[in-house]
Amino acid sequence: MSARPGQPGWADVRKDEAHVRREREKARALRATAWWKAQVARGVCHYCGKTVPPAELTMDHVVPVARGGRSERGNVVPCCRACNASKSCLTPAEQILDQLAAGGLVPPDAVPDDPLSGPEEP
Ligand SMILES: [Zn+2]
Repeated sequence: MSARPGQPGWADVRKDEAHVRREREKARALRATAWWKAQVARGVCHYCGKTVPPAELTMDHVVPVARGGRSERGNVVPCCRACNASKSCLTPAEQILDQLAAGGLVPPDAVPDDPLSGPEEP
């Protein structure tokens, strides 16, 4: 594979159609649960942290279904349309590589409460 992070289509996406069908069905059922409704009712995008009207939040799979992700509580988050559109089929690690390659990663001082930036051990 010659494509590099930051170039369109660089990630090797090979869908398992049966898995995708099954997980889409599970997502539909998960959307109807009280748990999901409570997530959406908070009105906050998981990725950008912006307050969004609940009606505009979509269900996003952190690890995309097309990449083997499942429709389970640990893998779905409420997400605004802008974040959902920019995420496409990339896994979280691939998104970071993509952002690094594009030079658009958030500077460290913009990240609040970073547990790794505490005082150094003597
Ligand atoms: Zn967002």
